[in-house]
Amino acid sequence: MNRVRLIIFNAALGPLDYKVPDGMTVEHGSVVVAPLGPRQIIGIVWEEDRLPGESVSDSKLRNIIEVLPVPPLRAELRRLIEWTADYYCARLMSVARMVVSSGGALRGPTTMTEYRLTGVEPERMTPQRAVALDALQNEQATIRELADLASVSDGVLRGLVNQGALEPVEVDIDRPYPRARADHEQPDLSDDQRKVADQFVEAVKAREFAPFLLDGVTGSGKTEVYFEPIAAAIRDNRQVLVLLPEIALTEAFLGRFEDRFGAAPVVWHSGQKATERRRAWRAIASGEAQVVVGARSALFLPYANLGLIVVDEAHEISFKQDDGVRYNARDVAVMRARFEKFPIILASATPALESLQMAESGVYQRVELPSRFGGATLPDIATINLTENPPERGRWIAPELVEALEDRLAKGEQSLLFLNRRGYAPLTLCRNCGYRFQCSNCSAWLVEHRFSRRLACHHCGHEEEPPAACPDCGEKDCMVACGPGVERIADEVAEILPDARIAIATSDTLNTREKVADFVAQAEGGAIDVIVGTQLVTKGFHFPELTLVGVIDADLGLEGGDLRAAERTYQQVAQVAGRAGRGSKPGEVFIQTRHPEEPVIAALEAGDRDAFYAAETEARRGAGAPPFGRWAAIIISSEDEAEAREAANAIGGTRPNVKDVMILGPAPAPMAMLRGRYRYRLLINARRSAQIQDVIRGWLDGLDFPRGVRVNVDIDPYSFV
Ligand code: ADP
Ligand code: ZN
Repeated sequence: MNRVRLIIFNAALGPLDYKVPDGMTVEHGSVVVAPLGPRQIIGIVWEEDRLPGESVSDSKLRNIIEVLPVPPLRAELRRLIEWTADYYCARLMSVARMVVSSGGALRGPTTMTEYRLTGVEPERMTPQRAVALDALQNEQATIRELADLASVSDGVLRGLVNQGALEPVEVDIDRPYPRARADHEQPDLSDDQRKVADQFVEAVKAREFAPFLLDGVTGSGKTEVYFEPIAAAIRDNRQVLVLLPEIALTEAFLGRFEDRFGAAPVVWHSGQKATERRRAWRAIASGEAQVVVGARSALFLPYANLGLIVVDEAHEISFKQDDGVRYNARDVAVMRARFEKFPIILASATPALESLQMAESGVYQRVELPSRFGGATLPDIATINLTENPPERGRWIAPELVEALEDRLAKGEQSLLFLNRRGYAPLTLCRNCGYRFQCSNCSAWLVEHRFSRRLACHHCGHEEEPPAACPDCGEKDCMVACGPGVERIADEVAEILPDARIAIATSDTLNTREKVADFVAQAEGGAIDVIVGTQLVTKGFHFPELTLVGVIDADLGLEGGDLRAAERTYQQVAQVAGRAGRGSKPGEVFIQTRHPEEPVIAALEAGDRDAFYAAETEARRGAGAPPFGRWAAIIISSEDEAEAREAANAIGGTRPNVKDVMILGPAPAPMAMLRGRYRYRLLINARRSAQIQDVIRGWLDGLDFPRGVRVNVDIDPYSFV
């Protein structure tokens, strides 16, 4: 190739053409550096015919400067990038940018100096030197690290270098990862488990696209079972990606993975340090990384040789990204498996209706694990009608649940109270004038966090100190908390059970891997009696001594009328119930509700999943909602209210009239202001057969807006705020 077209990461410019200088070889997918005006930019070489752009004559082209030392993006990955951009109405460059998400890695290897013993005795021996020589047998590390290892000063080691007893070695700054071994510790699978595992292993060997829905009750051993095809891929030298919905779940997973395979997997998530990302990215691109576990952003990495994807807790909505490219990692993962021809396993005890429907229609193969492993039984579930048996005044835990908590503490068993609300109270008022503390950037109340002494907005992250006096009427010490958050429930537990050891488990308290690890160790070790937590603790964790689960407010998720409110409530409560009785002792679950007659609550109490899904399926079919119809949203925002409104009206005014496509709005969004931007929404509901993306593109592409206006398209939205 002597001229190439590049995708570049500049929102104002389309693809650009360049000349390939003599002696340089590039191919499609190569990552290169090219000049743009006085600057240098990074670009990806793309097939010219798949990337419409202005053709520039050869004589005007500038030369590519350099090909970066990373493997070219494979054709399958390029097709996935195109598919994602096309399906989600996103820019190609925005999707492509998720692939080259480690700037450091693109620069290739950097070396550093480590030291090791040469076997040469120093001419002059001192006690310190003797200690060092003894401690550093078979070690190789930096001076600093060796000094720590041997508990001597850097100076002692420098002396040994001068004496020729230690020698320098240049090594890649990114150290190799320890190797996972397929046969390190093999489990005895039950017959049910074995059957499913064998099927997965066959699929890995077949190297064909095969989507599975692993539908297994909580505690049935889904993880144990999908470890087998992972082992098969490791034996076959193919890479595996395990997607988890939250970083907090990674910690529990890592321990189990290491027990099974003798080494930790490679971790990928957006909160990592740049150096960790570089190391992981390079190992992924070279094929050295055997198994990668990560949040959704791990999906777009340039795996050299992927042979299996597992999406665990596949029903979780956090697989949907709600800013930037609004993609659903679960769905794109299936496409990746299809383009690259390997199996994918979507694992869940409460699959999304969409996934069940795909199984129903024969697209996914459904495999079931109908019972808990090792004879553990599913917990008994009962509702507590808060209207008839309310808690004491000013409290949130009903007497029946209080009794159960006391009983567990007496027996030395664990309890878990679930409330999906961080902080102390969701709303704070002035007792004198009724002033409500609201976020200055969002249409949202500020949430009191009593432990960190902050009022916080859960939408934009804004925080302020609780004021000494009401900003409106000036009354001192005026704040009253309305409603409960987990911190308030924890306070209540402390009053009821003064001797109990209580842990709050939320994204505020478990915000680093170390804290999660600590929490897991304490809970497993029996150092916690009562866990009070948000949805963070509803899944993934396995605490054998946990025998009681209390759902503080099952009605919470049903408010607000979200399309998936009932399904989400079902999933959350069923998942958190699934934490009870996983060991040898049976579990018990209490669901506090004001509406025990609601179909979803009744189905939970009866343990009748099929009834719930059947009713929900019919409701969705009737409403033309997914999976039977399709939704898309258009979100218009600006810092200027009038500008946002006018842009929304301009879009509304040019709405196309297309058969089978219904367009609602524009209307102010329920979250009318977010992060200082005013927001309007349109909602599109279409038959499955409608080419909704084409309709939207044709509609919006012709419109022009002021610079401050953002127009975002959300295909298959999960958030309606
Ligand atoms: P799930 O993901 O379906 O909720 P897990 O994979 O967490 O279930 O399994 C529940 C518990 O049972 C875990 O502690 C797991 O180690 C154990 N377990 C499951 N299957 C086996 C097996 N075949 N041998 C030993 N332990 C098992
Ligand atoms: Zn805010």
